[in-house]
Amino acid sequence: MFDYRFSWMDEELGMLSDAMRSFVAAEMTPHEPRWMAQGHVDRDFWYKAGEVGMLCASIPEEYGGHGGDFRHEAVICYEQYLGRGHSSFGNSVHSQICAGYILDHGTEEQKRRWLPKMATGEMVCAIAMTEPGAGSDLQAIRTTARMEGNDYVVNGSKLYITNGQQADLILVVTKTDPAAGARGVSILGVETANCPGFRRGRNLDKLGMKGQDTSELFFDNVRVPPENLLGGAEGQGFGQLMTNLPQERLVIGLIGCATMRRALADTVAFASDRPLFGKRLIDMQNTRFKLAEVRTIAEVAHVFVDQCVARHLAGELDTTTAAMLKWWVAEQAFGVTNTCLQLHGGAGYMTEYNISNMFSESRLYQIAGGSTETMKDLIARTLA
Ligand SMILES: Cc1cc2nc3c(=O)[nH]c(=O)nc-3n(C[C@H](O)[C@H](O)[C@H](O)COP(=O)(O)OP(=O)(O)OC[C@H]3O[C@@H](n4cnc5c(N)ncnc54)[C@H](O)[C@@H]3O)c2cc1C
Repeated sequence: MFDYRFSWMDEELGMLSDAMRSFVAAEMTPHEPRWMAQGHVDRDFWYKAGEVGMLCASIPEEYGGHGGDFRHEAVICYEQYLGRGHSSFGNSVHSQICAGYILDHGTEEQKRRWLPKMATGEMVCAIAMTEPGAGSDLQAIRTTARMEGNDYVVNGSKLYITNGQQADLILVVTKTDPAAGARGVSILGVETANCPGFRRGRNLDKLGMKGQDTSELFFDNVRVPPENLLGGAEGQGFGQLMTNLPQERLVIGLIGCATMRRALADTVAFASDRPLFGKRLIDMQNTRFKLAEVRTIAEVAHVFVDQCVARHLAGELDTTTAAMLKWWVAEQAFGVTNTCLQLHGGAGYMTEYNISNMFSESRLYQIAGGSTETMKDLIARTLA
């Protein structure tokens, strides 16, 4: 059930997936319960992931990365979620989202300053868009960055920020010109070491994703040098977000597909062992029908995500298709994990069974990275 193939995979990517599977099993799975209990991965784990090439796989070697492309990121992300290592490690935000912003939009100097440290794990990266008063409606953000003397001075707060407790670099979405609407949005790289006025709030307690830290962040007259303005020109932030959000949604599509595959495999294994009324759970017709449905949904999702990655590699993944993938896979992953949890009976409600974690984690996919309603709104705009 774990044997999968994407149309864009070659022998080298097959070897990468094998290596990642071994790494996840040996270096992540054993620590996952502890990470979940403490609410974050060990800081040292970022260095370990850097050593094996798990970070910044698609970043060119000249910027310290591994010289791959999005296929490498996709395989690394997929294997993390397919393995029992699961969700604690926020590499998808760090490598598959943040590094992409810096590579695609950063100045040459920013790429050389930040990406090599991100590839080794010396610098953990987060992206901070959401605020207490603005999530789906990104244009409503209130965090400002005003030029005072030689620096930008950042004021505001951010909410629900993945990697927020550990981040050394935060791509903060701000308003450099609050009167200019979308054209007044800029992204600033805030380096958190020795950064007066920057404060991390609580590591928020969540329904799922217990081992992935999610934070409130506060900026109180934080001085940021103009060299840290992503791309070097003000007012580019909204365009940068619009360009890169399809990749973020594609990553969530990959995670949802891996989750469904894992849920199916775990449930087949559980139902094959579970005696019930003189048979095995897997022999009951209801179980067989439910698992047949799950397998079908997982396969359809696989084909769709496979095609979307191929389109992304060709530079042809449009906002609408990424939105379709994101909402549909997110909802299927939640439905599939719900079905699989039910087939586990009481065991499915116990956190020692992975299905309960997959169920609570998959609930998030309908919210983060643009909610289901936001995705449908984007799609509907193309219709009328
Ligand atoms: C665990 C976790 C990790 C996260 N990580 C990050 C991160 O790293 N960085 C970051 O910036 N953000 C992050 N987020 C925030 C996430 O992206 C937002 O929660 C999400 O965009 C929704 O915004 P909101 O919570 O403000 O809800 P709201 O925008 O207030 O939405 C409330 C409801 O209104 C619905 N709605 C929205 N638009 C419409 C519409 N047009 N029509 C009808 N209904 C609509 C929504 O779907 C939702 O049901 C994270 C969130 C979570 C839970």
